[in-house]
Amino acid sequence: MSAAEAGRVVKEILIDLGKCTGCRACEMACSAFHARPRYGSVNPARSRIRVVTDEVNDEYVPVRAGNLTRAECDGRHFYRLEGKRYSECSFCRAACPSRDFFIEPDSGLPLKCDMCEDEPPLAEPLCVTVCEAQCLVYRERRIEAGQEALPADEAAERGVLALVSRHSLAEVIAALDRVARRP
Ligand code: SF4
Ligand code: SF4
Ligand code: SF4
Repeated sequence: MSAAEAGRVVKEILIDLGKCTGCRACEMACSAFHARPRYGSVNPARSRIRVVTDEVNDEYVPVRAGNLTRAECDGRHFYRLEGKRYSECSFCRAACPSRDFFIEPDSGLPLKCDMCEDEPPLAEPLCVTVCEAQCLVYRERRIEAGQEALPADEAAERGVLALVSRHSLAEVIAALDRVARRP
């Protein structure tokens, strides 16, 4: 069976925010794994996962490095989850000039999570392995060939949820109402 016929596997790390203790073991493990020589040093500034921390509000958000962005975006939303208020930047994976995350301190090059690609492959990403609080959970999700697109109802649901999180339910309903009334 060819790879195309078999579909592909998407690797994901799920985050249970309520379980993160802010111990930063994930940062240390990631930086050690990617050190040269491997495990030769520990420096969270070189980690591809950082824990956005607000100790006063008991908020800890582990976020893995995504893409480089050259400029700050205008996203200034706040999210309230289980009684805590989080800024949009706390969940953002970008190597962004608004903060000192995800830029390699010596070279200035952006860092990006590689899900700990290695040969032979790791059983699971290292940050997941060292997270004793089980805040991080590794999951492999198979997408069957020919089924890469979401079913229409699920795609529509996700689109609406994204709009609601960015605006508000009332605004989205009002916009849908306006669209429905168009001749
Ligand atoms: S190792 Fe787990 S509990 Fe500790 S900071 Fe990282 S994600 Fe949070
Ligand atoms: S960290 Fe992300 S959300 Fe915050 S300004 Fe930068 S790109 Fe925007
Ligand atoms: S999956 Fe691997 S590379 Fe990505 S943040 Fe975790 S330890 Fe670092």
